[in-house]
Amino acid sequence: MKVFRGGTVVDATGVRDADVAVEDGEIVSVGDASDDPDEEIDASGQFVAPGLVDAHVHLMMDGRADPGEVDSDSEATLAYRAAANLGDALDAGVTTVRDLGAPGSLALDAATAVERGVLEGPRVVACGENVVMTGGHGHWFGREADGVAEVKKAVREQLKRGADVVKCMATGGVLTEGALTGAPELDEAELEAVVDAANAKRVPTAAHAHGTAGIKNAVRAGISSVEHGTFMDREAAELMADRGTYWVPTAKALYGIVEAGTEAGIPEFAVRKAEAAKDAWAEAFDHALDAGVPIAMGTDAGTPFNHHGDIPEELELMVDHGLSEEAALEAATVNAADLLGLDGVGTVAEGTHADLVVLDADPLDDVTAWQSPARVVRRGTVVR
Ligand SMILES: [Zn+2]
Repeated sequence: MKVFRGGTVVDATGVRDADVAVEDGEIVSVGDASDDPDEEIDASGQFVAPGLVDAHVHLMMDGRADPGEVDSDSEATLAYRAAANLGDALDAGVTTVRDLGAPGSLALDAATAVERGVLEGPRVVACGENVVMTGGHGHWFGREADGVAEVKKAVREQLKRGADVVKCMATGGVLTEGALTGAPELDEAELEAVVDAANAKRVPTAAHAHGTAGIKNAVRAGISSVEHGTFMDREAAELMADRGTYWVPTAKALYGIVEAGTEAGIPEFAVRKAEAAKDAWAEAFDHALDAGVPIAMGTDAGTPFNHHGDIPEELELMVDHGLSEEAALEAATVNAADLLGLDGVGTVAEGTHADLVVLDADPLDDVTAWQSPARVVRRGTVVR
């Protein structure tokens, strides 16, 4: 048994001074640990919190300016990159990631590799390949499908591979030259087919959606989470709150591009559009907070200048836009775990997985505390 002694436990259930005892990858007690443990770790003056859950990453991409470059990489190269990204995320205190799109079984295999201890990394939940209309957003690494029957088949192929979630494209990308807001792609009937087919295995569904019409299509179809949601208006926010649809805001995806700018080699039209999208996204955040949309943290890590090692910056961006520190913690722990369908993840409680971060400052006072964990614990092992 290993005991983190004398720290302050901070999770979505509250704040309390408590020792945390860990054995065989699980938390076995939270409170006074009087036993003589095998290993004692002094956490006095520190804060013991759950490891972060990122509901939206791309393990095969590493934040380079032009993600299209990875298209010509071999499968082995993509896999090595995924392994490196997993290491970076874990070092940053991220103990669960959800991959929302990679070619073939790349991310599903990463999940297996971590589970079997071949790779040290966060737990991986993965969708397999994105379901996308012919020629649609990200088609170069997605499974193209049109019409209800083809879409169902495409979803079932991912389920057969062992997908833990089904990801589809409800709109185009904001940054496609020519398109303004991310026009609808898979239509409402096709999105319903995604949900129907996924329900057979009871896995959640995620829809990439920027434009207002596409967001509403996805919510009405019963999709579990709207990814990005850039042009969410008040009506869409209310619809999401009503149906309990999660929003995964991916602030860092937008800020990565805006902050790097044209000097980093991003085309000017893309930076201009990202600026406009940023304003719409800030309004979407207000609508979401007003309506009470449930929020799960997700970064889209891997997209330009959005590195896996910087994932905890997402909490700061959400707080900058009006989310409380407490709600940011919930979004990045219990809410994301709930969206992913994971039990025993996201709190510091007896019987849950020992995925922890030890922080030097109280993350409820200072949200940037997440960005420099003193220790990271995965399955009970101190990995950093
Ligand atoms: Zn994405």
